[in-house]
Amino acid sequence: MLGIRNLGIKAVLLMTLIGQSQTCRAESLWDLANENKDILRISTLFTAQNVRAYLSADEGINKAIDWCKKTGVTHVFIESYRGRYTAERKVLRHAKSRFAAEGFEVSGCVTTTKIGKISTGWNVISCYTDKATQDELQKIFEYTASIFDEIMIDDFLFTDCTCDQCRKARGDKTWAD
Ligand SMILES: [Zn+2]
Repeated sequence: MLGIRNLGIKAVLLMTLIGQSQTCRAESLWDLANENKDILRISTLFTAQNVRAYLSADEGINKAIDWCKKTGVTHVFIESYRGRYTAERKVLRHAKSRFAAEGFEVSGCVTTTKIGKISTGWNVISCYTDKATQDELQKIFEYTASIFDEIMIDDFLFTDCTCDQCRKARGDKTWAD
């Protein structure tokens, strides 16, 4: 319900922005989006696989910057890890500096799927009772923090594991506890 209500508010704001853009046609959507970003900021995410496919070379980065400007996107999230793929440091750093130089807000992102020991539940989720999995998670965030000042964490960060190790760690508590 909350999501739908927020979406409604965002839609109204977007329509207001579009309405404004039609009354002053000389101004680009990019300029308008920047002037109004305290009211509504439009962001997009490049997944780690998007980074590999589209942001590895300047030609792709140029296209991405152009698309974002034409779309009124002023904040980009550039993901370092998702599903056992880690984007290369030099690619992430270069994409970050190119977007920043064009006036975008730039942040990192991590999607915590398929890390270390896999859950007994959903097969993209991890068992965080497992120490090696905790260590791998830490390494992913340290790597990302060495490149970006802000990291968005995708909502895959949860567990539904009920392996023997998790059962033992749970003790007498309920799963919710
Ligand atoms: Zn477990």
